[in-house]
Amino acid sequence: MTKFTTPIEPENIKLLIAERIHDPQLRGNIARATKTSLVKRAVVVEDFPDWEEMRGVAHDIKRHVMDNAGKYLAQFEERASSAGAQVHFAADAEQASRIVCDIAARHGRRVAVKSKSMTGEEIDLTHALERAGLEAIETDLGEYIIQLAGEPPSHITAPALHKSRGEIGQLFAEKLGIAYSDDPEYLTKVARRILREDFLRADVGVSGVNFAVAESGSICIVENEGNARLSTTMPKVHIAVMGFEKLLPDFESLSLFLNMLGRSATGQRITCYTSVLTGPRRAGEHDGPEELHIVVLDNGRTRMLSDPQLREALFCIRCGACMNVCPVYQKIGGHGYGSIYPGPIGSIITPVFRGVERAAAMPFASSLCGACSEICPVRIDLHHLLMTWRERISEKRQGKIAERIAMRLFQFIAARTAYFDFSGRLFRMFAPLLRDSDRGLRTPVWGRTRAFPAPPEKSFKQLWAEKIEREGEA
Ligand code: SF4
Repeated sequence: MTKFTTPIEPENIKLLIAERIHDPQLRGNIARATKTSLVKRAVVVEDFPDWEEMRGVAHDIKRHVMDNAGKYLAQFEERASSAGAQVHFAADAEQASRIVCDIAARHGRRVAVKSKSMTGEEIDLTHALERAGLEAIETDLGEYIIQLAGEPPSHITAPALHKSRGEIGQLFAEKLGIAYSDDPEYLTKVARRILREDFLRADVGVSGVNFAVAESGSICIVENEGNARLSTTMPKVHIAVMGFEKLLPDFESLSLFLNMLGRSATGQRITCYTSVLTGPRRAGEHDGPEELHIVVLDNGRTRMLSDPQLREALFCIRCGACMNVCPVYQKIGGHGYGSIYPGPIGSIITPVFRGVERAAAMPFASSLCGACSEICPVRIDLHHLLMTWRERISEKRQGKIAERIAMRLFQFIAARTAYFDFSGRLFRMFAPLLRDSDRGLRTPVWGRTRAFPAPPEKSFKQLWAEKIEREGEA
């Protein structure tokens, strides 16, 4: 396996891509995993002949909730508090981490078991807990693998998607001192045996939230391994971290979104475990934590909410389908973007979460083919949002001088038919001077890795005029 050295940060995107694009093993791993997800998804989406209508309804529900975010958040807080949960609000990543660490400190500050949470990744919670003196253990198998590897996730639903089973076998052998094996069942059993002990000694369980139901103050967590259920019920304290975009009005909406999330994310009709938690354990109940804390994170979401175009990105249910289908993601994987939120949706929300200066190149890492918008279960117009970012970034930066002059010149010529025709003739006349026998046209930088086809002898306009003439004569 190739060892990459560039730090995975959004400002390093060009170096990260350059490192990964020529790694056949990595590309093979990503291609296999994304293809499998897409094939499985296609099969189960067939269950619903009205899938397209469902996408429209899901979009409208999300729009309605975000248009009334204040109302639904207040309702959620009131109902969750009535059920015994403690709701905290955090303006940014630092405050959210501090709230979680303070709660953990009040309960022993020893071991925290974590179930997979992208919001947790967003605030870098594992490292914050470790800095606060806790042993923070990832219990989702994918997260456990990348924690052993010391890497961030490369996909929002399949964090270790970039690794083959052979690479995981080597990692387990190296880090856990077991004999090498690439048998997934054996490796899973090893992880399970270790993690079971960790659940038993944990003081605090930390989770994300897939959906938050305003009408009851419940949180819903979906997963396939049972680790989230153990993380949220075995320790005495459960801390759930969520962005306020996870809100849904009621259980009726939840049933629609559960149908869409499992299918879009993992190609499952329903995930193996769906936990709906309303408050902590009540008197007379045997299971569940004594305390439930829900940390509601802003971290730029209010800014997104007040932005008429980017607000739509808050509809995202983090299914990862836009990554699986993205031709750029399929080539460079999640780490190539430098953000824990990669792919099309990551390129839209990372500039908000990490700052537009640091993530300015991300919206340009797209072919704008629109496959992401077509597959998104909540019908987010992803490729147009990417264009919105490009427009804003280009306007702010004013582009490179040469680029600006070239675009102005093109604008001037393209708006005048005679100049446009003349420049086309000139290009066709002088293009042979740029011919390279093997590669078509020699073009700087761009042409180093691509063949530029030779231009045709006649323009489309000429060919069309000739066709009309021929048909007139016939
Ligand atoms: S933008 Fe749409 S497709 Fe992408 S992760 Fe979010 S919900 Fe899924």
